[in-house]
Amino acid sequence: MSVELTLETPIRYIKGVGEARHAAFTRLGIETVGDLLNFYPRSYEERGKIIPILSAPDGELGAFEVTVRETSAPKHLKGNLNMFRSTVHDDTLAMDLIFFNTPFMAKALTPGRRFRVYGRVRFGRNGREIVSPKLEPIIEGVELPYYVPVYRLSPPLTQKTIASAVREVISLCELVPELFSERVRSEYGLISRAQAIKIMHFPKDEKSLSLAKRTLAFGEIAVFRLALSGMRSSVKKESAAELGLKNSGIKHFFEQLPFELTGAQQRAVKEIFADLARPTPMARLLQGDVGSGKTAVAAAAIYLCVKNGYQACLMAPTEILAAQHKKTLDKFLSPFGIKTELLVSGLPAAEKRRVRAGLAEGSIDVAVGTHALITDKTEFFNCALAVADEQHRFGVKQRAALLDKSERDGKRAHMLVMSATPIPRSLSLIIFGDLDVSLLDELPPGRQRIETRVVSSSDCERVYDFIKKEVAAGGRAYFVCPLIEESESTTDRRAAESYYKELTEKHLKGIPAGLLHGRMKPAEKAEVMAKFASGEIKLLVSTTVIEVGVDVPEATVMVIENAECFGLSQLHQLRGRVGRGKRRSVCILVNGKKSADAADRLAIMRDTSDGFKVAEADLEKRGPGDFFGERQSGEFSFACATVSDVSLLTETEGIVKRLLSERNLPENAVIFAEAEKFLERTGGSRTVN
Ligand code: ADP
Ligand code: MG
Repeated sequence: MSVELTLETPIRYIKGVGEARHAAFTRLGIETVGDLLNFYPRSYEERGKIIPILSAPDGELGAFEVTVRETSAPKHLKGNLNMFRSTVHDDTLAMDLIFFNTPFMAKALTPGRRFRVYGRVRFGRNGREIVSPKLEPIIEGVELPYYVPVYRLSPPLTQKTIASAVREVISLCELVPELFSERVRSEYGLISRAQAIKIMHFPKDEKSLSLAKRTLAFGEIAVFRLALSGMRSSVKKESAAELGLKNSGIKHFFEQLPFELTGAQQRAVKEIFADLARPTPMARLLQGDVGSGKTAVAAAAIYLCVKNGYQACLMAPTEILAAQHKKTLDKFLSPFGIKTELLVSGLPAAEKRRVRAGLAEGSIDVAVGTHALITDKTEFFNCALAVADEQHRFGVKQRAALLDKSERDGKRAHMLVMSATPIPRSLSLIIFGDLDVSLLDELPPGRQRIETRVVSSSDCERVYDFIKKEVAAGGRAYFVCPLIEESESTTDRRAAESYYKELTEKHLKGIPAGLLHGRMKPAEKAEVMAKFASGEIKLLVSTTVIEVGVDVPEATVMVIENAECFGLSQLHQLRGRVGRGKRRSVCILVNGKKSADAADRLAIMRDTSDGFKVAEADLEKRGPGDFFGERQSGEFSFACATVSDVSLLTETEGIVKRLLSERNLPENAVIFAEAEKFLERTGGSRTVN
């Protein structure tokens, strides 16, 4: 019996998909025929680009058309291992193909037969060779595909089984609803969505493939932006407490600060105060490089909020940071009788209960905490301002939860989101399209420039000597552990522990040190941090968990292993942990790779100290994917993952505007429906309008 397939049909109805494959597809997030069509290859093997064997470089992938000269009999090596070699040639040269544990293949490789061969060439003892190449017989009249798709796999699925499942349903891509009218498509040079999907799975040539990618990416970004602007406009329609300057004594707040605000800080404060005075909720992103003084700006907003008779809260991504913020706010706000309390999951239960009671009855003005704040148990008396630090650790979902939490009498809290990830302005307008942006593009005066050095792994002895001297002179150092491929937290921990062991038992023996990794309990982490802050330990070895916000002025050295594996912006973040005191600070980037590209990227770090410039360079080198990553963290996922050119981001500007103004045209119904779906996926309950 055959079933009439639709996009909603569960994939187990596809021919060839049994129980085991069904489970594997589910693991890949594929439940329906529609999901499968949207499961685009992660890359393509360009097997149609045939090169002469003679010109194949060492270590590179290549495709060849060859004739078999001779094939050895399979040889037993040891255990279950057997292998054979086949010598093949084209017009220019011969090379060896080496096969392991596929003795049956030897029979197919008979002298004189022709194959298309694809694989990584290496220069072996007998000249060029390929281990475990992919083979396709060359047969008169049968055309081999130029590109062969490579899908993400989950066993027992193979490239072949996925490709054949896709082939079974590819004709259904005609049912995928079109996002853009004919008019829009021709204006922006897009093909139809159905056609684009088909090409993604079965591309003929580079030109049509890039057109297909462009079409799908264009659609995804347009949907994304529509969703964001929908969130923004729906927020603007809600009401919020009006927080005015009158009788707030804000002047005293500024006078009592231990420093004069920078021009940028003053500008941001002004923008925020203007928002807070309006009867609609603020939704603002405060973006500033590490050390640009975002906390003082947030404190000013919190001050104003409390002086207007409302509560405020500040969320941090980690307990360490929450504790640090609590201290800073106390310093700035307690002189005015403003009561701030810490609320983190590490607190004793009785203490948590006490703080929650105080927040519910209104005797506590400001709560500083982690996401524990937004768990169901916390009620505020009248929270009118929610500040979230380090935006990229928070998703839209969490923010929505925070807002819902603070809603009272039909009013929503104003929201200020702080981010230390400098994102090029062009991009932040798009990625944070649901937020207004204030920029702190100026550092407080008297900051030390952090000297950045790039070294290779073989220079480590010199690095250790330098650190010994620094510690002797009163400095402290951070070590960021080498990255490991599988970032499973358990292996992460093991790598951190062995790196720590090597440093403390060998290279830097005798210097008190501590280890920080993601699997430690918050209390343990806080203890290690406290010891580092007090100077009881001088070296802090950690995975990237220390990335954000930590402030230890005595720390003067930051060593980052495998620096080439990080994004520039992330390196910049890490680097910002030092250079917070009076002493000269140094960041040492250990380049574990010999490639010129890695050296180039790290040189940018050496030569640039401005976070926004670093971000621009990162954008240029790596494309916007990383910045989207900031925002994505599992919630915004684009199926056409390689949003590879920035121009596409700006290009969608016009069409999004137009769509918003032509919202009611029937031809736009599909794309608005997609934007709704997008919001549902990201947890927003609001409608796009
Ligand atoms: P970030 O933007 O990274 O969160 P912080 O708010 O932690 O930065 O500020 C970094 C340091 O700079 C803090 O020690 C803070 O007291 C100090 N600071 C902030 N603003 C100024 C200013 N205008 N002048 C001098 N120091 C300042
Ligand atoms: Mg900060």
